[in-house]
Amino acid sequence: MAADPGIQKPGRKFGPCVKPCSHKDCDESRFIATECGCRLCGKPIGWETRFYVDPQASQATPTDKRWVHADCLEDAVEQEQSRECHGCGRIMSEREKQQQGVCNDCAGQAVR
Ligand SMILES: [Zn+2]
Ligand SMILES: [Zn+2]
Ligand SMILES: [Zn+2]
Repeated sequence: MAADPGIQKPGRKFGPCVKPCSHKDCDESRFIATECGCRLCGKPIGWETRFYVDPQASQATPTDKRWVHADCLEDAVEQEQSRECHGCGRIMSEREKQQQGVCNDCAGQAVR
């Protein structure tokens, strides 16, 4: 999955028109950059900021919630990975995470 490099500012080569217009593309660019909030931090995606179409968004997701900042999503993925048990790959609870990166099951096996 590649991040979109971001929406160019109005007036840039691939950016929307500077003045209000009725182009569909311009409209969508403005919408993503200024109105739709990132699912993870709630802030608008912004201009020239890398973003992804939210992999968890579905057709049922309101259109203003279908994008996430690349930075936010990458952070979230990293956090998720750091919660995987080194033994079995299961996502651990906060408490399990405290014990050297293995889940209760794997920790128990190691002791035996
Ligand atoms: Zn336009
Ligand atoms: Zn964000
Ligand atoms: Zn485990």
